[in-house]
Amino acid sequence: MGKETGFLEFEREERTYADPQERLKHYKEFVVPHDEAALQKQAARCMNCGIPYCHNGCPVNNIIPDWNHLVYEDDWRNALEVLHSTNNFPEFTGRICPAPCEAACTLNIVDAPVTIKSIECAIIDRGFKEGWVKPQVPEKQTGKSVAVIGSGPAGLACAQQLARAGHAVTVFEKSDRIGGLLRYGIPDFKMEKHLINRRAVQMEAEGVQFKTGAEVGVEVSFAALKENFDAVVLAGGAEDARKLDVPGAELPGVRLAMEFLTQQNKRNAGDDEVRAAPRGSLTATGKDVIVIGGGDTGSDCVGTSNRQGAKSVTQLEIMPKPPEKEDKLMTWPNWPMKLRTSSSHEEGADRDWAVLAKRVIEEGGDVSGLECVRIEWEGREMKEVAGSEFILPADLILLAMGFTGPLKRGLLDRAGVELCERGNVKADERRYATSEPNVYACGDMRRGQSLVVWAIREGRQAARAVDEALMGKSELPR
Ligand SMILES: Cc1cc2nc3c(=O)[nH]c(=O)nc-3n(C[C@H](O)[C@H](O)[C@H](O)COP(=O)(O)OP(=O)(O)OC[C@H]3O[C@@H](n4cnc5c(N)ncnc54)[C@H](O)[C@@H]3O)c2cc1C
Ligand code: SF4
Repeated sequence: MGKETGFLEFEREERTYADPQERLKHYKEFVVPHDEAALQKQAARCMNCGIPYCHNGCPVNNIIPDWNHLVYEDDWRNALEVLHSTNNFPEFTGRICPAPCEAACTLNIVDAPVTIKSIECAIIDRGFKEGWVKPQVPEKQTGKSVAVIGSGPAGLACAQQLARAGHAVTVFEKSDRIGGLLRYGIPDFKMEKHLINRRAVQMEAEGVQFKTGAEVGVEVSFAALKENFDAVVLAGGAEDARKLDVPGAELPGVRLAMEFLTQQNKRNAGDDEVRAAPRGSLTATGKDVIVIGGGDTGSDCVGTSNRQGAKSVTQLEIMPKPPEKEDKLMTWPNWPMKLRTSSSHEEGADRDWAVLAKRVIEEGGDVSGLECVRIEWEGREMKEVAGSEFILPADLILLAMGFTGPLKRGLLDRAGVELCERGNVKADERRYATSEPNVYACGDMRRGQSLVVWAIREGRQAARAVDEALMGKSELPR
């Protein structure tokens, strides 16, 4: 374990952020990492519990107490080995995972949890800095080939595992760059994109081929992939965004969050986003912005709007305001429902809960406001509060109300795979096999809108299932 008395001696210390006024001037990451001495103290707080609940709380089952101990012992290289044994991309999760492991940490019951996520991030950042992260080229090739459709975290993890098992892997990606939502959903200020490029270089050296601008079901024939590859993995994400169904929602100033976020990430990458965007350049500069949807996507819209210089930013949520603090004895070790204030919220936004959008108000052919009403929840039923209508001024309304599942047109229409009752691709969590022979599914396309760490888990497990099916056995970890 870290240090026997570490949790008694040291307080939890989180990474700090650059000052909001400073960080709002750019789109770069602004988390200030711990120095190594401070991290060793944080790692020393780990109690090496007989049953490490953190390990189960983490969807990739990171072996957290072991790497905490190794960091405390100043053995960073072995800490990296242990970390990589369960997680292909800890530099992603160490930045953007909501860290369910920390909610599950035993110290969280009566004290503050170990700073697991910060330690994870520091191990991998040090690994890259020291040049310890090398391509793992397989000793021999199997002669089998696999097509992976989609290059989000699920597709990337799956492709990397399969290439390391000796299969010839090609990743097909419809966008101009790989990464999925890591690239074009999550803003640069949460995760800079050179981190994806760095992994792509490693994966190419391991034998993975990337084909971008290649939409399967449109530019690339699904039937041809099935014909030419021994297995096909569907990892196309859950891209069907929930729409706003109220009068005025068709006005030009009502836009999907993903359109807005993608454009800014493209601008950051130096692209000509006006040319790229079918409906032209979209910015929040000088505008009263309303973000509908209180989740992560909405929070990313808040941070991006503030960086673009919005006049005001308001975020609305249909559900009631959650409690400030959870009742730990009721919720531990599970992920608790509680009020979450992101770094983007801290940069400035009005937040309101239990609010329903009723009508987009039009003036001169575009948006001028949003009429809302307060609601009350009785169980799963909502009721409008009579006389509580109000109007907010708005020039831009961003829809961040979640995703209903994968897009059906194109790929899934062509693939002909069965869908589950929620509209995701039907496949179980053991074999990841769809209703079509030799076709597998993982990540958001199989489980619905979720998290990066779940996508990595599913990509790894699907890779093992594919390897087993192709070779009769597999040494890949699940
Ligand atoms: C704005 C936003 C912020 C988020 N923030 C966080 C966060 O902070 N932390 C977190 O853990 N999770 C976050 N998430 C969720 C997380 O990004 C997803 O759960 C995760 O990326 C899913 O991974 P995936 O590989 O299954 O799919 P995706 O990342 O969606 O990747 C799917 C890829 O498949 C490609 N594709 C689709 N169809 C085809 C086709 N026919 N041919 C070729 N390519 C195709 C797509 O272009 C895309 O690149 C966020 C999501 C959004 C929208
Ligand atoms: S991947 Fe997420 S849940 Fe797992 S250890 Fe890292 S921060 Fe925790």
